[in-house]
Amino acid sequence: MPVYEYICRKCGHSFEQVERISEHGTKKVRCPKCKSQKVEQLLSLGFVKTSKKS
Ligand SMILES: [Zn+2]
Repeated sequence: MPVYEYICRKCGHSFEQVERISEHGTKKVRCPKCKSQKVEQLLSLGFVKTSKKS
């Protein structure tokens, strides 16, 4: 599943959130620290690392 990175505009806390692609953009993201919804999405990091061996 893709991981999205957000930064809170209120407290400056940055956090990552795993969302289904179908969920992304449909639900409000809240800062886990101050519960503000004033969060901004940063560039997506890509996908959750799995245990696949390279
Ligand atoms: Zn915050």
